[in-house]
Amino acid sequence: MSDPRELYQQVILEHNKKPRNFGKLEPCTHYAHGLNPLCGDDIEVTLVVEDGIVKDLKFQGHGCAISQASSSLMTVNVKGKPVREAEIMVEQFREMIRGKLDPATEPHSLGKLTLFQGVKDLPSRVKCAVLPWATLHSALEGDEAASTE
Ligand code: ZN
Repeated sequence: MSDPRELYQQVILEHNKKPRNFGKLEPCTHYAHGLNPLCGDDIEVTLVVEDGIVKDLKFQGHGCAISQASSSLMTVNVKGKPVREAEIMVEQFREMIRGKLDPATEPHSLGKLTLFQGVKDLPSRVKCAVLPWATLHSALEGDEAASTE
């Protein structure tokens, strides 16, 4: 049996070291820049949306391991999904991190993203984990600047 906390650590470290979909799409259809001043996390998300589907997305920037790993895992999970489903994931991820959605007992479409649920017990890291999702949301809404507020 693997300890979920250990698995979480491994995934964070691995994605921080080798982030997936790192870079910038040019041209892109959607773009947003997200900042978390509390920690210094700074990311840019670019997307290509066609026919209501997120055909491609990338992120770039810098910050702590949690923000980088959360960004990387977000791109892996959102790529190829309809925008509508991506928005549902944004909402569910935020709810889980804030302790309002318990992925063990409530329906969700977060898949492996439930690894981040432990972040709810680390208040100073909540914004790090949520930043890429807030930035994705802003990009999809057409706002270029995201906030973790
Ligand atoms: Zn951070």
